[in-house]
Amino acid sequence: MKNTITYTTCPVCDSASIKFYDHIKDFSVSGEAFDIMECKICTLRFTQGVPSAEAMAPYYKSEDYISHTDSKKGLINRTYHWVRNYTIKSKRKLIEKTSKKSAGALLDIGAGTGTFVSEMQAAGWQVLGMEPDDTARKIALEKYQITLQHPTFLFELEDKRFDVITLWHVLEHIHKLQDYIQVFHRTLKDDGYLIVAVPNYTSNDAEHYKEHWAAYDVPRHLYHFSPKSMQKLMYLNGFEVISVKPMWFDSFYVSLLSEKFTKGKDDLISGFVRGMASNMQTLKNIQNCSSIIYIIKKRKAN
Ligand SMILES: [Zn+2]
Repeated sequence: MKNTITYTTCPVCDSASIKFYDHIKDFSVSGEAFDIMECKICTLRFTQGVPSAEAMAPYYKSEDYISHTDSKKGLINRTYHWVRNYTIKSKRKLIEKTSKKSAGALLDIGAGTGTFVSEMQAAGWQVLGMEPDDTARKIALEKYQITLQHPTFLFELEDKRFDVITLWHVLEHIHKLQDYIQVFHRTLKDDGYLIVAVPNYTSNDAEHYKEHWAAYDVPRHLYHFSPKSMQKLMYLNGFEVISVKPMWFDSFYVSLLSEKFTKGKDDLISGFVRGMASNMQTLKNIQNCSSIIYIIKKRKAN
């Protein structure tokens, strides 16, 4: 029998006031469907009946899961790689501007094949990267000569070590959500920054594609954050969200994939139009952006 997790309370705020939202299919790997629940208190959506961490590996086995394999097949993947070069540099600039440091101690969780770690190291940062996937760690070593650690090592780190901790589309994958956030609080310096990028289900593209929205990505995405639920998660763990930034390219990428999930084939024009629509709405309100970067600091003790 498969090892699954059924939540009886919200994984963010622990409220028992949860309701069924929708039944959503895993379009990219297994073809299985999962229930998505919504917390009536903090508005977090989360995947119900998810495989346990140990049983999750088969759901990551796909040519399409590009963050792990670095596949360059297909137009969407090629576009993704081109854009990634640009966004990696934007991420470095964001970190340097936010922290007001041109070098410091950085922890990157879910480092994938090490592209971001490599960029930051080249710029002079002392970087510790963690990645659970063996293949991704191997690629990081071969491609960039970077040794990434397995995340179990996270719990052995000393206090107040890092100026910045980053999670680029990673928090939504982590089973031990609260344990991780607590370790981030412990290992971050008091004036440090936690930077978390996640998909946003309140976005214009999410509301348009509904059950075909690619960033639900069940069961790999355990949690589907709204800005409100992210603020709640951070507040409950001694942090506060101090600002939010849009991720413009994610609107296009997620819309292109969502078109494919809706129609069973690529539709570049419709995907582009929808990505543009999301971004136009984001200019009015960041709540509409496909993915959001949350800039987070430790809350001052009251
Ligand atoms: Zn909740």
